[in-house]
Amino acid sequence: MKSLWNDNEAKLFTGELGQRVYTSRLLGREPSLVLHGGGNTSVKIRERNIVGEEETILYVKGSGWDLENIEAAGFSPVRMDYLLKLATLPALSDPQMVNELRTHMTSATAPTPSVETILHAILPYKYVDHTHADAIIAITNTSAGQQRIEEIYGDELVMIPYIMPGFDLARSCAELFVQHATTRTRGMILLNHGIFSFGDTARVSYERMIELVTRAEDYLTACKAWFLPPAPPFTVKTELRVELAMLRHEISRAAGFPVIMSLSADERALEFARRNDVDTLARQGPATPDHIIRTKRIPMIGRDVSGFVTEYERYFQRHAPFAREKKTMLDPAPRVVLDPEFGLCTVGKTAQDAAIVMDIYQHTLDVILRATALGGYQALPERDLFDMEYWDLEQAKLRKSGQSPEFTGEIVLITGAASGIGKACVNTFLARGAAIIALDINPVIATLHHRPDYLGIQCDITDEAAVMQAIEQGVRVFGGLDMLILNAGIFPAGCPLAELDSATWRQVMQINLDANLALLRLTYPLLKFAPKNGRVIAIGSRNALAPGPGAAAYSVSKAALTQLMRVAIMEWSKDNIRINCIHPDAVYDTALWTDEVLAARATHYAMSVADYKKRNLLKTEVSSADVAALAATMAGPVFAKTTGAQIPQDGGNERVI
Ligand code: ZN
Repeated sequence: MKSLWNDNEAKLFTGELGQRVYTSRLLGREPSLVLHGGGNTSVKIRERNIVGEEETILYVKGSGWDLENIEAAGFSPVRMDYLLKLATLPALSDPQMVNELRTHMTSATAPTPSVETILHAILPYKYVDHTHADAIIAITNTSAGQQRIEEIYGDELVMIPYIMPGFDLARSCAELFVQHATTRTRGMILLNHGIFSFGDTARVSYERMIELVTRAEDYLTACKAWFLPPAPPFTVKTELRVELAMLRHEISRAAGFPVIMSLSADERALEFARRNDVDTLARQGPATPDHIIRTKRIPMIGRDVSGFVTEYERYFQRHAPFAREKKTMLDPAPRVVLDPEFGLCTVGKTAQDAAIVMDIYQHTLDVILRATALGGYQALPERDLFDMEYWDLEQAKLRKSGQSPEFTGEIVLITGAASGIGKACVNTFLARGAAIIALDINPVIATLHHRPDYLGIQCDITDEAAVMQAIEQGVRVFGGLDMLILNAGIFPAGCPLAELDSATWRQVMQINLDANLALLRLTYPLLKFAPKNGRVIAIGSRNALAPGPGAAAYSVSKAALTQLMRVAIMEWSKDNIRINCIHPDAVYDTALWTDEVLAARATHYAMSVADYKKRNLLKTEVSSADVAALAATMAGPVFAKTTGAQIPQDGGNERVI
């Protein structure tokens, strides 16, 4: 591991807190040191308060911040004098501790200080850095972990046996550190948890962390336990989507809410899932206890969801009676799946959650494999892991957690998603919590959004093989499909029927009609397994109900699409799939309405463009966002008991009425 310190970068961060921000980010840039909210850092600064008194303030990482992108505002300022008094108390519950921390900050708006705040306070050094370095936990998660740490560091590190984070850990460290620290002390190891370094400057503390962790990596290298042999190339089935959707359905049922399930293409994970001893290795427990909140204690091996649930309930019943307070069981669904056929799948309430679990478990695999190469992976006993999973601070968060957006954990496929109504649907469904598989022939679709709940795929929807591949890809990323928005369509230039050539006619039918048949056929086996039932929204047109002259192909294609939906309803209602249709008109902010088309239509009706745009009873324009909002509402609970509806959204049209 190399120091990422750069003098020019460092200069941009002024003051003692600025330097703290800079090196915290350097730690955060290295995923084998800290992952997603893991690790924490602090600095002790002398300050004058508003009444002119000098005091020392501990600036410590606030909860909810990642080291990778922390800012000065992410550090909570807590009064040191009071923290040191707290550290001498014989006992303090964790909720009480959080209350004391929050009420002794010098800023009312700062985030809640890390639960390891008192631990930072008792270490008598200006800068303190703490990580859950992979190399350290690989070594300490073995039966001879303690001896190995002594072998590597001698008396340079103070070693603390495993204690759950929180007040008890801080208190024990306060005692043990004073007993064992010498002038040679350069850091502190928390067995099965992580490592601390410290120093007078941000750079010294940071580089000491790098140096200490590098020694652990070198030790592992010398033991032939650092570089893992590359996994052999493997092939999984080309079509997994229905199996994945069925598994997601079962996991969602166990969780009590729809989940996102992401499949990894990691060859090492698949090799691991196929090992004969995968059961013994993977069922030991997480690499560091704070991962348990994300990953659960053990992965599900294979696809026996009900077996996993039963085992989880038994685990809860084994330990809950011995807890200090009454515990509420968390949902018993797995978060990590190891399947010999798929490899690794991770599960979360959102795509972001599933991605975090993926990162964590890939590092967990490294740790398990390295510890195995070192002589045997050995995680903490089940009881300690239960205490962490059911920590009262986490349980409190659970009770407080508000309502999620309505489509959280659900997946929607939208065609024609790069512009107009399709693009508006992407934005609306994202805002309502859904993960999006967005298709469009325009390559811009791939980069429309950069976020874990968005997958844009360039795809010609008249190419059935390409559509199938796109759906397969989408299901591998998100786990299934809940909603389908049939939006893509073309509107050729106006042309009287007597002059309409067959090639134009066929092209319109291919895109506006045939492609939708293929999409329906290909998504049906997935929509059947939508945890909250499948939904299809077809974007029809006012022309389906009130055709106009010169638009034969378009009007016929949309009328036929409507009829296709009606047949689908007759066939798929038994699978609880709801299908509804919107007939928009006067939506001019779409790709269909080029200036030429608009001018031509206006001329056709002998109107100005402005009058043409509002030629409806309400004299209004309908926007793409209006259509998207109606589509989302029709896919949501308001329309839970409606199928086969065709709703005009056209500002009122006499011919439709
Ligand atoms: Zn920690």
